[in-house]
Amino acid sequence: MMDKELLAMLVCPQCQGKLKYDREHAELKCHFDGLAFPVRDDIPVMLAEEARVMDADEKLGKATPKRGEAGGQA
Ligand SMILES: [Zn+2]
Repeated sequence: MMDKELLAMLVCPQCQGKLKYDREHAELKCHFDGLAFPVRDDIPVMLAEEARVMDADEKLGKATPKRGEAGGQA
């Protein structure tokens, strides 16, 4: 389980803004930068190079991401 206090402390490494935790996709999202940081084994990976880039609609919070589309794992 993610610790709520830990989550509240986390900010985007790019813009220092607040992140939104997407429990379903295990991602911490910065809608300002359009980046989704993965949470692996309950550990947030706060690295821009590990983050998934959201598409335009997702960035605006309109659409839910489709599974397997981004394919961020190299
Ligand atoms: Zn940001």
